[in-house]
Amino acid sequence: MKITEVEPIILQIGGARNSDTDMGLIDALVVKVHTDEGIYGVGECDGHPLVISSIIRGSAFPHWGDFEQLLIGENPLNITYLWEKMYNSFANSGRRGLSIWAMSGIDVALWDIAGKYYKRPVYQLLGGAGGKDAVTPYASLNSLGSTPDEVVRTCRESIKKPGYRAAKVHTDPKTLRDGTMAKLVKLAREELGEEIPLMLDLYMALDTDEAIRFARSVEPYNIGFIEAALKPDNLDGYAKLSYSTTIDIAAGEEHTTRFMHTELMDKGKVDIVQADATEAGGITEVKRIAALAHDRGKKYIPHCWKTNISFAANMNVVASTINAPYVEFPIIPGILRNQLTNETFQIDSSGRMKFPENPGLGVTLNEDVVEKYRYGKSPG
Ligand SMILES: [Mg+2]
Repeated sequence: MKITEVEPIILQIGGARNSDTDMGLIDALVVKVHTDEGIYGVGECDGHPLVISSIIRGSAFPHWGDFEQLLIGENPLNITYLWEKMYNSFANSGRRGLSIWAMSGIDVALWDIAGKYYKRPVYQLLGGAGGKDAVTPYASLNSLGSTPDEVVRTCRESIKKPGYRAAKVHTDPKTLRDGTMAKLVKLAREELGEEIPLMLDLYMALDTDEAIRFARSVEPYNIGFIEAALKPDNLDGYAKLSYSTTIDIAAGEEHTTRFMHTELMDKGKVDIVQADATEAGGITEVKRIAALAHDRGKKYIPHCWKTNISFAANMNVVASTINAPYVEFPIIPGILRNQLTNETFQIDSSGRMKFPENPGLGVTLNEDVVEKYRYGKSPG
């Protein structure tokens, strides 16, 4: 089997980012890797679609690297070798940046091909079930709300009623600093009961001392982890924060490759790394990152904020990984999020999801949605 084409597909639904329905998901970059045997693989890159698609198919400037030209004629089943080939081709021009995000989507597509070729779900090719028979997704929401009424409604309608057993909310810098957020978290804890961990995403809003003060203020409220409290390069600050609170500190959404994640764990002392298969180097690399975390007694809980392709990729890694108790499940509805694949993911009565059992990632592209929202066509 040989690769014949690496096709970046840009999707755009239009509208403003941060709209209630499609926050962060008004566009997507899907990667299709075609072969001469009729099997194709599907992947996704979580990043600027135009920029990343130019790295995947950059034939006008081939001396800067062009993953498609690099891969055509190769056997798609030689995934580890192809990972090195792609990585080394960008060693001198952005080896930790968007080239890794571009590689990520291709690597996911190669695993999809392998699963289809061997007629197995990807998680089985990654070593099989990792000490569990289902995956527990945590509901990833935008906001907890900014008034007591909103907080109660969010907890009841978005977390408890659908049956999620863990949830994460974003926070805004002002409420983190003035003590409002801690009060809202206390209220949420009363509403959720003791059993449902609440995770808090600070989105790099605080400096080290502010983050320590905030973390200590919410320690009594069963916080699953505090995410992205600091700027991604503030590794000393992460270490100080981690040693200063009993709450698990999570980071990694902004970090690519096992090299950056090793620094995050060894220098930054984070408890949880959040490498996303569509950003950090594909399934190949996040599986390595999860193993490095396991060696250190740390957890791997991937970031995920794109379509069901991303979710399926991360879910297959989590399914096969021992130290991965959760996967992020974005629950804000959106056309690309909910309709781009023919399959959708639902929790069962225990708040868990079965492993994908179809060959490959377990999801297939809805070609009607692809055609309707292909970049360059006016949104219909
Ligand atoms: Mg985040």
